[in-house]
Amino acid sequence: MPEYRQLSFELPGLVERLRSGVKSRGRRKAKPDHSETLLGLFEVIAPPDPVTRQQIAQDRGLRLDCELTAQCQELLNTINLGALAVGLKVYWNPRLITTAGLAHHGTVRIDLNPRLSRFAPEEPGRTLRHELAHLVAHHRAAGRSIQPHGSQWREACTALGIPGEQRCHNLPLARRAVKRKFAYQCRHCGIIVPRVRKLSRESACYPCCRAYNRGRYSRRFLLDSMPLEKAKKLAPEYSWA
Ligand SMILES: [Zn+2]
Ligand SMILES: [Zn+2]
Repeated sequence: MPEYRQLSFELPGLVERLRSGVKSRGRRKAKPDHSETLLGLFEVIAPPDPVTRQQIAQDRGLRLDCELTAQCQELLNTINLGALAVGLKVYWNPRLITTAGLAHHGTVRIDLNPRLSRFAPEEPGRTLRHELAHLVAHHRAAGRSIQPHGSQWREACTALGIPGEQRCHNLPLARRAVKRKFAYQCRHCGIIVPRVRKLSRESACYPCCRAYNRGRYSRRFLLDSMPLEKAKKLAPEYSWA
């Protein structure tokens, strides 16, 4: 019974009670029943909900952003969702690699990818509202199951000032460690596109074409060549040559 031993270190009272039990056993008397005493003690020192290893690993490196949390709470107050605002927390989560952001309904928490700020300056704010819209839609659904990017979510996006928001959560972040010698930047969203080879022809930003032009090519979103040194500073997450 490892629980006995573990408890005895912290609870001297219990040690005594157990010792008296051991003695009585030594004198060959009836074995005393400790179950009730122990049950009571377990209740007194009931530990908080156990934190799983997985949870600890997930929380590692999380950085709470008080400013963004306050911004979201204010936004929620303006649309009369103060109740949802109370427990809300916004974190930067370095474990997110290509995911831009995540909304956790249960804990009313938003995780943002720290690499977001390397994209267009408005990117963190936009992703934040996208994720906040998930929390709003879920809150308003009050237990009914809804499509993650369905009409309730789109309504919430409009209320939060990002009408016509796209469902995409992924960022074009490098996964392979290939050395990139050329850098291009979208003239619309400012995204940096690393390339191993020089672009042989005029190219447009794929996320922008998809978001604003139904996936068709448009010169509005042309990629402009940029100096490698500048790209290295703006997007150090890529492996540059
Ligand atoms: Zn989403
Ligand atoms: Zn773009």
